[in-house]
Amino acid sequence: MSQFDFLFLEIGQGDCCFVRCPDGRVVVVDCGRTSDALGAGDFGTFKEWLRGADFLCGRTNIDAMILTHPDGDHHNKALDLLQGSHDPAKPMPALSVEDLYVSAGTPDGPLAMYGAGTAFGANVYSNVVTVNRIHDITINFAKKEQTIWNLDASGTRPVYATSGATSIISKYHEVFSGTVGTDKWSVQILASNVLHVDGHLSNQVNAGSIVTRFSIGGRRALIMGDATESTEAFLVDQQKSRLKNMDLVQIPHHGSESSSTAEFVGLTNPTEVVVSVGFLEHVNRLPRYTRPISNWLEKMYETDEDGNVQGRGNIHDNPHPFDYWTQTIDGDETNEQPSRNKLHAHWNEVYGRFGETKPGFPSSFSYAESTKAQDCVGYKVQGQVPWFLFREVGNAAIRMTAHGSQHYTLNTDGAHYVETIPTRSD
Ligand SMILES: [Zn+2]
Repeated sequence: MSQFDFLFLEIGQGDCCFVRCPDGRVVVVDCGRTSDALGAGDFGTFKEWLRGADFLCGRTNIDAMILTHPDGDHHNKALDLLQGSHDPAKPMPALSVEDLYVSAGTPDGPLAMYGAGTAFGANVYSNVVTVNRIHDITINFAKKEQTIWNLDASGTRPVYATSGATSIISKYHEVFSGTVGTDKWSVQILASNVLHVDGHLSNQVNAGSIVTRFSIGGRRALIMGDATESTEAFLVDQQKSRLKNMDLVQIPHHGSESSSTAEFVGLTNPTEVVVSVGFLEHVNRLPRYTRPISNWLEKMYETDEDGNVQGRGNIHDNPHPFDYWTQTIDGDETNEQPSRNKLHAHWNEVYGRFGETKPGFPSSFSYAESTKAQDCVGYKVQGQVPWFLFREVGNAAIRMTAHGSQHYTLNTDGAHYVETIPTRSD
């Protein structure tokens, strides 16, 4: 099989991508979602897919798992993914991980930021799941190095396998590589632990996200976790030649406003774009038609003076649905009280199960069906100022996991969309 296969899961608000390399090795990038799992597909199905013919083909070891950063929506389902099932109707073997890659390791251990109790880190330390090596990677302006950890003799505590951090000589860390015919392919980490820059949106944990590039014969795909403007600034400065004219990009940070600068979008200039978002997702974790989404769309639809499309996106051959939120501001008629009351009524009737922050008041973000058939209307409380969001549905060049798991391939001809596989039942 001379291609990469990517399956971006319909995991709700969160991220998980299964990758099959050209030689059959399997990489899992992130596995988590917010606890309410709003808009998520069937996780049991995802576990079967990973073990099945498209990925592990019955093997019980994942060759590499990359946890981009320690936010729960990127790792809190990793334990579930690896654990098996004793259900006689659907027996499923437990999986081990050969090499785990993380950002944000600390002197207390590579997974100190990945939670205690029942969380992923604690279960690795207590050997509930088997991870053979943990690579704590830093590739930023200040240094390029990795520390490899494994478990001590008692199997309860990661220790340094080396005498400490070792330098990464290249500008990247190569996870895997191989050749297909005369074409070289590789999986490379291009950034990890990039430092948050004052004045940029978001925070250190997100800015530190591992950025991974998959390439074959000069064709390239990019997965970025919740990378921010700070991460992008590093990539534009230090990894320019490796990121020019990508074939597939997963929009960082679920399409929120802390990333996707025009400069970064212009450099990567992709033909295919995918975003991990939950169905009708909320707060910052949805594609609002603001800077990030418009930057990607405008690039893909770019036209010359005569109106001919210059962008590399293939929307014109292959239109598909895309939905996002638009925002209205104070003074708009939608902020009038009657509309709000109507929204509350809808909310209480239809969506009360999502909970409320105080009686009669929606939680920090909520939505209900609009009287306009094609839209939903949402309501958000940010500080003391309420505002409304409208859900727009149209066709665009960006595919979303909200509509189902997104399957792509990457081969020496480029990136190819294969199918959307919906498993959500709610
Ligand atoms: Zn996230």
